[in-house]
Amino acid sequence: MTLLKHNKYMKLALKEAAKALELGEFPVGCVIVFNGKVVASGSRLGTASPEKRPSEIDHAEIRALKSLEENINHHKNINHHNGKNMNHHDGSDNGRDMCIDNGSNIDREIINIIPEECIIYCTMEPCLMCFGAIILSGIKQIFYAFEDPMGGGTSCNLGELPILYRESGIKVVPYLFREESLKFFAQFFSRKNNFYWKNSFLEQYTLKEANYIIQASETDN
Ligand SMILES: [Zn+2]
Repeated sequence: MTLLKHNKYMKLALKEAAKALELGEFPVGCVIVFNGKVVASGSRLGTASPEKRPSEIDHAEIRALKSLEENINHHKNINHHNGKNMNHHDGSDNGRDMCIDNGSNIDREIINIIPEECIIYCTMEPCLMCFGAIILSGIKQIFYAFEDPMGGGTSCNLGELPILYRESGIKVVPYLFREESLKFFAQFFSRKNNFYWKNSFLEQYTLKEANYIIQASETDN
């Protein structure tokens, strides 16, 4: 796949991040692509309410992986029902009638999604939980935009882990649209009413990195 195509999908992941930011959530977005089509997407949830303890399960990647499973199972169900209908000669359900498009960019008409041939695009480096879940899903390639120096999991040494991880063959490509993603996080951490990871190392690091970018653009001008 050409870099231009990877750019296109990361831009869609950034759209998911923008959606999260608009809702007051930590701005992480994610899309999963198979055969040139977006087959799943997700954005961060569970960080916006000051009354609740933030969810550390509803990460964008986990939500996208759930959406991928639903899409795969959706087509398995259709095939199953169609098989039944064919046996009993009592239905005209062609499957496509059952397609529900509940994701803005998701193509649910793709049948036979092969996770091993999917690519996942994340606007932030996946944490250990998400990195593990991506590996278990079978996906072999991750692109991410902004690094997570506090909770990123992709730098762990897979060679020292049990066989499933060690032999996963996962490939990680960092920094695609890093600046665009960083701007969202800087916006998030600049909000006065933000409480998620307030005064954390991640907040300090993000605002410092965003300042470098502003200074660099001022020097350019
Ligand atoms: Zn995560």
